[in-house]
Amino acid sequence: MINMKDVYKTYSNGVTALNGINIDIDQGEFVYIVGPSGAGKSTLVKLMYREVKPSDGTIIINGTDVKTIKERKVPFLRRQIGVVFQDFKLLPKLSVYENIAFALEVIEEQPRNIRKRVMDVLELVGLKNKARFIPDELSGGEQQRVSIARAIVNHPKIVIADEPTGNLDPETSWGIMRTFEEVNARGTTVIMATHSKEIVNTIKKRVIAVEDGLIVRDEQRGEYGYEV
Ligand code: ADP
Ligand code: ADP
Repeated sequence: MINMKDVYKTYSNGVTALNGINIDIDQGEFVYIVGPSGAGKSTLVKLMYREVKPSDGTIIINGTDVKTIKERKVPFLRRQIGVVFQDFKLLPKLSVYENIAFALEVIEEQPRNIRKRVMDVLELVGLKNKARFIPDELSGGEQQRVSIARAIVNHPKIVIADEPTGNLDPETSWGIMRTFEEVNARGTTVIMATHSKEIVNTIKKRVIAVEDGLIVRDEQRGEYGYEV
């Protein structure tokens, strides 16, 4: 599903964020990406949804080579990938319903299908009764559930989350993790960069540790491995 071979990334200011990365992730896996600040975790996940382009190496996402993909094909790649951010990135003036429906409107889903798809996904994340609220009227955990709903409403094969619980208190974070586990149980590949030792050591999954732009550990049911 995700294959990276000898991947390097040097930004235009000369900073090398990744220094030869090799990864194979199969469909349906749940993978944590861990490591110190500045290690290259965000760069690694941004390469997967082509927010960042590799300087060298090969990246194949669900059969598509993201290095040579034509610009006009990037939207098709992105449709196969749902992305969840630490700061939610919801549209503040739109309701919960509209934030999610928007993701379907941009891919030109037929209007008659949109309502059912949005309500189904709101049911999955437990927010059916908040469809008419705007993001400001929701708690942080609820906003993150809306952003997960938006990420999965297209039924992507892959969900990528960059520190999705970084702005949430521990109790709320467990609820968000239940939602990701549910998404994964439906066959979606989940990639999650995180700084949460508690989560990684409690909900055991494959752990890929990155330090100074290199993979230093890749273990099934791994440990977080760092102090806080
Ligand atoms: P690139 O064109 O290499 O993809 P961006 O357009 O993402 O780079 O960023 C433009 C500039 O912003 C970079 O060259 C850098 O100076 C600065 N920048 C952005 N984010 C960071 C960061 N996290 N650390 C250091 N510099 C950054
Ligand atoms: P992490 O997510 O593990 O904190 P990042 O991938 O954000 O690591 O950053 C890895 C390195 O690349 C850092 O030195 C960071 O400052 C640098 N960096 C990240 N984004 C940019 C950018 N857009 N432009 C220049 N440097 C960047």
